[in-house]
Amino acid sequence: MHRCTKCVMLETHEMLTFDKEGVCSVCRQIEQKATIDWAAKEKELFDFLEQYRGKGLYDCIIPFSGGKDSTFQAYSLVTKFKLKPLIVNFDHGFYRPTHLKNLERTVKKLGVDYLKFKSDWQTVKKLMKESLIRKGDIMWHSHCGIYAYPMQMAVKFKVPLIIWGESTAEYTSYHNFEEKEEVDEKRFNRMGNLGINAEDMVGFLDGTVTMRDLEPYRYPKLADLRAINFRSICLGNYIPWDTKKQSEIIHKELGWEGDYVEGIPYERYWYEKIEDAFQGIQDYLKWIKRGMSRMTHLASIDIRNGRMTRDEGLKLIEEWEGRRPASLDVFLKAINMSDEEFHRIALTHVVAPHVPDLTKVKPGPKLWDQDQWTINIDIET
Ligand SMILES: [Zn+2]
Repeated sequence: MHRCTKCVMLETHEMLTFDKEGVCSVCRQIEQKATIDWAAKEKELFDFLEQYRGKGLYDCIIPFSGGKDSTFQAYSLVTKFKLKPLIVNFDHGFYRPTHLKNLERTVKKLGVDYLKFKSDWQTVKKLMKESLIRKGDIMWHSHCGIYAYPMQMAVKFKVPLIIWGESTAEYTSYHNFEEKEEVDEKRFNRMGNLGINAEDMVGFLDGTVTMRDLEPYRYPKLADLRAINFRSICLGNYIPWDTKKQSEIIHKELGWEGDYVEGIPYERYWYEKIEDAFQGIQDYLKWIKRGMSRMTHLASIDIRNGRMTRDEGLKLIEEWEGRRPASLDVFLKAINMSDEEFHRIALTHVVAPHVPDLTKVKPGPKLWDQDQWTINIDIET
């Protein structure tokens, strides 16, 4: 398989192209990032925000997971850009304890109105299973809810401006930094919903789930969004996004804490994807499908930013990828599936030319908080 000659991304990653030197399109895009006049972009954002300030009940909606990116986004929009936002949190049902503390602490410290929506867990379990079977990805409900629910709230509260975090230009080549990325239905259908909309999902399931149950996962009607004259933008198109630096800022200013995550070293990546109990499974599935998981992605970012050599990256990949996450036991129990069936399904989603070798898989260590996850409580009852 071809691996980028600059970073460590593999050709199996979605939407990646390579030039004649074997360098991937995201590496080339990040080189371009250095030539952007960020001061001008920031001023452009200040000017743009003026038209929304103080006009309605809220200046904007901030879709908020409470992870490193959306915490920085909220921190920056409130303290630097002086907006009064409505924070909208879509809780997919498997947040971890440190994350929950971070979330509550952040909204309190920032002094913001905060709306939390938690979707029905019995439906979520059915959705996770179906999503795994269809796409080799357990998080259809989470991908859809995170994008769709804040847009629904924009319509409901008549708040026309929705501000997201990083631009997808950081990690994919759908857009470059010069294009203004609108987070709209087109992006939802391309990147958010795995090509499955709520109507499709109802048809796939056994008849016990209705369209009413899937309402939180539906993108609002375009006519309703147009009626509020909506704009849905990424903060990362106006300020240079640097997760490592931003994580240090929110740790210092808001007391935001990192955590151990399966498949990556804590010492280096204490801030990365700490929110989801099932992140390790999602990353493991990616490893089976594409031969790469989060370690490859993170090493690539560090190499592009000059914080790691390519050889160091390859060594970390060798050490951290291809471990069976201990959290898989919790997940399989929740959706009532055997280990064999899970792996059989995963193997139906392999992306050529990758050929996974499951005989090389080693068991990963259990996270410190696994026995405390709220999902365990669900399993017991
Ligand atoms: Zn690259």
